[in-house]
Parts: sequence; structure tokens; C-alpha cells
Amino acid sequence: MIDVIIAGGGPTGLMLAGELRLHGVRVLVLERDAEPTKVVRSLGMHARTIEIMDQRGLLDRFLELGTRYEVGGFFAAIDKPWPNRMDTAHGYTLGILQTITDRLLAEHAVEVGAELRRGCELVGLSQDDHGVTAELADGTRLRSRSLVGCDGGRSTVRKLLGVGFPGEPARVEWLLGEMELTAPPEELAAVVAEVRKTQKGFGAGPLGDGVYRVVVPAEGVAEDRTVPPTLEEVKQQLRVFAGTDFGVHSPRWLSRFGDATRLADRYRVGRVLLAGDAAHVHPPLGGQGLNLGIQDAFNLGWKLAAAVAGWAPAGLPDSYHAERHSVAADVLDNTRAQTELMSTEPGPQAVRRLVAELMDFEEVNRYLIEKIIAIGVRYDFGEGHELLGRRLRDVGLKRGRLYELMHDGRGLLLDQTGRLSVTGWADRVDHVVDVSEELDVPAALLRPDGHVAWVGEDQQDLRDHLPKWFGAGVS
Ligand SMILES: Cc1cc2nc3c(=O)[nH]c(=O)nc-3n(C[C@H](O)[C@H](O)[C@H](O)COP(=O)(O)OP(=O)(O)OC[C@H]3O[C@@H](n4cnc5c(N)ncnc54)[C@H](O)[C@@H]3O)c2cc1C
Repeated sequence: MIDVIIAGGGPTGLMLAGELRLHGVRVLVLERDAEPTKVVRSLGMHARTIEIMDQRGLLDRFLELGTRYEVGGFFAAIDKPWPNRMDTAHGYTLGILQTITDRLLAEHAVEVGAELRRGCELVGLSQDDHGVTAELADGTRLRSRSLVGCDGGRSTVRKLLGVGFPGEPARVEWLLGEMELTAPPEELAAVVAEVRKTQKGFGAGPLGDGVYRVVVPAEGVAEDRTVPPTLEEVKQQLRVFAGTDFGVHSPRWLSRFGDATRLADRYRVGRVLLAGDAAHVHPPLGGQGLNLGIQDAFNLGWKLAAAVAGWAPAGLPDSYHAERHSVAADVLDNTRAQTELMSTEPGPQAVRRLVAELMDFEEVNRYLIEKIIAIGVRYDFGEGHELLGRRLRDVGLKRGRLYELMHDGRGLLLDQTGRLSVTGWADRVDHVVDVSEELDVPAALLRPDGHVAWVGEDQQDLRDHLPKWFGAGVS
């Protein structure tokens, strides 16, 4: 029997498939589209996602095909420099097209043994005490122990579960596409700069080979956003906003997106879970959606694997909702705030000027940037040391560096005392005795997602905490 079916082979589903395979879980990814999409939505990765790729030994693949930028300006496009002393070894943004990210994640998932079936649409599902039955569009029925809906903002899985998706509907829509144009580059740049003074959701940037990425506000909100706009629609809106259509022609692809902001009520119903856009949608301000989905998958993968392996302690499956739902709620709020700050109305403009002034304070700038790049996330693990619940940044060790030791997705005890032991949990937790000048705690227990589960030096205290995340010890 398949252990986990993942509906949706976007970045969230593919990341999750790779994570599950690290633990030997039998995974099947069902992807509706027969071919990878050409539509490029996300343009980059932020620090926490870059760290995640590093923790799994995947970062070099992404660095090779991406471009590093040390620029700020993520929060409501308020142009401020990257703050000094960021708490990460990866203080940059990685510019990389989503089509490339999707491809690299698919290659990795398949390399480590996941099955990716394209052209397979999930249309029905039911669950009982023993498993889940998924029904495909061609009538095939498949059985698995669990199923995760990573099937995007219009998630069929979420709808079939009847999970509420409260929030705000799209009020505005934009047309997006890649196309050629005949206007001279200098004229194009001058007009775009002028229009952007009052309309931030407008742009046309060169991608090379004479192709441009064009974005322009739509006339209204389409009834069915899955239907792409026509080139004529794009031309008409360019004329409305820029007074010229720049002679656009030969589109590679056209698409539309809106500013709907919604969050699923529940991330788990029995054996079925939701992750990525299936669980949350928001406008693409700050470039957070893909990052958030990959981080959901990173949180969920080892927990689901623990459940499949049979050692998941009580409460571990539900900790996924507890931890990730509030992170998504926070992201939705920051995009709502950014949306207000992008308004050209005098009131929001005044608030924008005030926020821009406040961001001249280093701490304010850092706080806002850390929200967007997600290194400030702290899960509620109860009272304790300030590191508790936070992910630990990569730190140098005498023999290498921390993230190099996390490629297998296991728990890790970083022990600077040399006196501790994980006997009883050694099949789930690695014990690394080493020292780091960058870490001023005697020892830290990391979950497979790199979040600090315990800090201290007392063996009995450690033994009391291990079961909370890693189940009963083996005698
Ligand atoms: C214009 C734009 C720009 C963006 N820029 C950024 C950015 O810079 N940074 C960032 O982090 N995010 C950005 N995003 C958001 C990002 O694109 C999404 O958050 C991300 O793609 C979500 O990934 P996902 O895997 O959860 O869902 P998706 O990427 O939507 O993948 C879902 C997959 O499920 C498949 N599917 C759907 N239904 C079924 C079914 N019933 N059965 C089987 N398969 C199914 C679909 O074909 C699809 O492949 C942007 C979004 C837009 C619109």
C-alpha cells in the first residue's frame, strides 16, 4: 500500500515528497497537468527557504541556476538596504524562476524514490479508520494511509473535505505574461518608470532574447481566473495605463492573478492534510507564497513520516496545524498591511511615509525583513531559553558546519559538553559532539526541521524532553 498520496506536484507537494522519502515513506505524487507549466509566478527564494535547501544538501543546485541579490525593499516595496547582522548565514535573496524551482524539486523527489504521476487529477476522496481512498478523473481508485492536498489555491482536496476558507475575495486582478514587444528599450523604461509612480502593480522588465515579463492591472475581476487573458486584453490594459501597448506580440504565456486573502480553518481532517496554497492564499507582495509552502512541507514531512513509522508521539500530527496555521495567519496579515501601504490614497501614503521613516531604525527594518524572509518564526514550545522554538541558523563547527549534518532529515543533538547521550533514540536522533564559537549554549536538541526543541546540559532533563518530539525511547 502507498503510505502517502500527495495531490499536486507544485513546489509544496514536491518538497514534501522529497522530505517523506528521506524516511523511506512510499510516496505517490498526483499532478493534474500532463506537462510542467510554462507560467512563471514566483521569482525567488528568501533566506529561510535557502537555509532549508542547505539543510538538505540541495542548495548548490539552486545557486547554480539562480542569482544572489543583497537588496532590501521587500516590505511594501519600501526601498531600504538589507539590515546589518542578520541572523542567518544566507543573508541574500535568490532570484530563481518558479519553473526552475519546480523542476529541481521534481528531479530531487524522483531521485530519492518518489513516484510522480502526471496527467492525474484527483476528483474524489473518502477516508476510514485504515486509510484514504483517492478517486482520479479517469475513474481509478487508489488507497493510501494518508493524503496531503498540495493542490493549490483552488484545492479540490480542501473542498472535498469541506474545510472552510474564510478571508477576503479578490478585489483587484492583474494580467501577467511573457511576450515580445516593438517599443525601443529606452522608451519602454521611461514610460514604465512614469506609470509606476502612481501604479505599483504595473511593470515590463526584460528577460533576455527580446522577451519581457509584463504585468498590468486588469479591467475587473474575472469570473473564472483559470481562463488566461487574450493578448488583446493585455494590449487594451497597457493602453489604459501607459497610453501605448508597446507593440506587444508573440506571447509565450498569459495568466491572471488576484489579491484574494484566505486561510483554511483546519490543516488536518483525520488522515488528510493541507499544505501550501491549498491552505492559504494572499497577494504576492514580498514574494512569500512559494516560500511559505516549502516551509509547510518542511514542517510536515518528518511528522507524517513519524506517524507512518509508528513512533509519532501523541500530539505530533496536530502540532503541524498549531505551528503552521499561525505562521500563515501572520503572513496574510503582513500582505494585508503591505496592500494598504501600496495604495495611492493620501491616508495610506502618509502611513507609508511614516513606516519608511521608522524603517530607518535598524531594529524596525530587521523586524519587518525577518517577517518576510521567515527567519524570525518562533513556534510555541512553552517557556524557556530564547532559542527554544526558533530554527537554529547554520553555525560553524570544529569539523565542518551544522547544516551539513542535517541532510538526512533526522533529529540532532549538538552537544558541546561531550557528556550527553541519546541512547534509546539513536535510530531517530544523531548525536554530534563538537563545539561552535557561534553557539553559547552547552547543548541544543534540533528537530529534523532545525527548530530548537531543547537547550541545556542535564542528561535527565534531555531524556524528559526527547519523547515529546521523538516518541518513546527504545531500551
Ligand atoms: C504573480 C505571482 C507572483 C508570485 N511570486 C512569488 C514570489 O516571488 N515568491 C513566492 O514565494 N511566491 C510567489 N508567488 C506565490 C507562489 O507562486 C505560490 O504560492 C506557489 O506556487 C504555491 O505552491 P503550491 O505547490 O502550494 O501550489 P501550486 O504551485 O499552485 O501547485 C499546485 C499543483 O497542484 C496541481 N493540481 C491542482 N488540482 C489538482 C488535482 N485535483 N489533482 C492533482 N493535481 C492538482 C496543479 O496543477 C499544480 O501543479 C507568486 C504568485 C503569483 C500569482
